[in-house]
Amino acid sequence: MLVLKFGGTSVGSADAIAQTISVIANAKAKDPHSVVVTSAMSGVTDLLVNSARAAAAGQRQPFLDAREVLFEKHLTAARELIDSEEERAHYEQHISEQLEFFSRLCSSINVLGELTPRGLDVVSGLGERMSAPLLAAALRARGVDAAWVDAAEIVVTDDNFGEAAPLLGPTCARAQSRLNSMLDEGVTPVVTGFVGATESGVPTTLGRGGSDFSAAILGSCLSVDEIQIWTDVNGILSADPRIAPQARTLKQLSYNEAAELAYFGAKVLHPKTLLPAIERGIPVRILNTFNPDGPSTVITKDPLKNGLVKAISAIRDLTLINVEGRGMMGVPGIAARTFRAVADVRANVLMISQASSEQSICFVVRRSRSEEVQRALETEFERELERHYIDRIRPQHDVVIIAVVGTGMRGTPGIAGRLFSALGEAGVNVIALAQGSSESNISLVVSHEDMTLAVQAIHRAFFQNRHVPTPQLV
Ligand code: ADP
Ligand code: ASP
Ligand code: MG
Repeated sequence: MLVLKFGGTSVGSADAIAQTISVIANAKAKDPHSVVVTSAMSGVTDLLVNSARAAAAGQRQPFLDAREVLFEKHLTAARELIDSEEERAHYEQHISEQLEFFSRLCSSINVLGELTPRGLDVVSGLGERMSAPLLAAALRARGVDAAWVDAAEIVVTDDNFGEAAPLLGPTCARAQSRLNSMLDEGVTPVVTGFVGATESGVPTTLGRGGSDFSAAILGSCLSVDEIQIWTDVNGILSADPRIAPQARTLKQLSYNEAAELAYFGAKVLHPKTLLPAIERGIPVRILNTFNPDGPSTVITKDPLKNGLVKAISAIRDLTLINVEGRGMMGVPGIAARTFRAVADVRANVLMISQASSEQSICFVVRRSRSEEVQRALETEFERELERHYIDRIRPQHDVVIIAVVGTGMRGTPGIAGRLFSALGEAGVNVIALAQGSSESNISLVVSHEDMTLAVQAIHRAFFQNRHVPTPQLV
């Protein structure tokens, strides 16, 4: 059995959907037991989210316009893909209902002047509820018996709106009963990615880009042979092709390496995708919908520690926070209090720097959380600041973390040297280094303006230098 997940660009237009259908038909010819998971059409989730935010800020026009745009976008594709008039009318009815609901939601948000995370999940999950029925109807029009399934009926989550965590016990029970019975009847389920619901039925989402995670959850519940992520690039490349055009496809990565890359900004895979796959040892393959026979990447359990640099990723929109002061040395528990204060505002620390000494602690958080973190620290250390044990709490905005990933690399002599001389030659200033993260990762902080230069310099040093062994590239 397979799970095939299609991203926004793979269902972004009638042409893309036609291509997606041929991928599904090919997969089904090899293994009829295939489950499809789909994202919203490209750009739709952003439009929904932005309209809801604008409504909360007092603007009605954006959601009124979005309603028209979304109607046209879905119906234009439907007209090209669905031949049967009855089917098309049925789909049009469905879209009208969803958009009517969207309008009413945005109207209420506008009247209240407030958008709660719970409300946002209802709005942002509508994109998949419009794309899944379209893909299912288009499959039927090509002779594939398919039906769409709302994942809210299967994926049970906690109520951490905006980034809900799946509860695997009830989710797997529902996935098995609902999806297996469809497959037994020869029907291909087309499940909405990204969305779920709490045990009492309140809609949730798994976080932006979360359809990959949906596919992995369902794949693990159904113990599939492979979880396939179909996207718009030839698998996972040695760097983001938008930053380093010379990047090449990696044939194989370990779960650990791929997880590090995803965590540190390789958007091609949602960071949580690998968790359910690892538990059952299911391979995850990344393929290109628009080049289905081209290169792809397979992610598996791999004990091989060959010490090679496999890939480079960059995570943006970060702030480095320094807690500094000569008097810190004598005050016990500063580090513990610092991280407790950060945890109390539920901010995630992405990296703790090796520059930490008894005179400074420095760590990285998302830019969007930095002001809150700074305030929390100023409150926590009010007395120490007054007495000048701590001189200042200093944020440095617009930094990025660059992660260089490859298992066993940190124990391999010469890699760090090559890395830093490449950056030195390119004139990149390394602001900080990571402390104690996994052995498959060296991470460093540079300013945003140095990001492209740094990624390209590292890529040249490890992938375009014939004296350095490279991982299996395609
Ligand atoms: P989808 O809509 O199919 O989920 P995404 O836009 O979420 O697709 O992810 C695919 C994009 O990820 C690619 O178009 C590419 O720009 C970006 N990306 C970032 N880092 C990498 C990498 N190392 N390898 C491949 N793609 C990457
Ligand atoms: N449509 C959702 C998003 O844009 C989920 C996804 O594409 O994976 O975040
Ligand atoms: Mg994605």
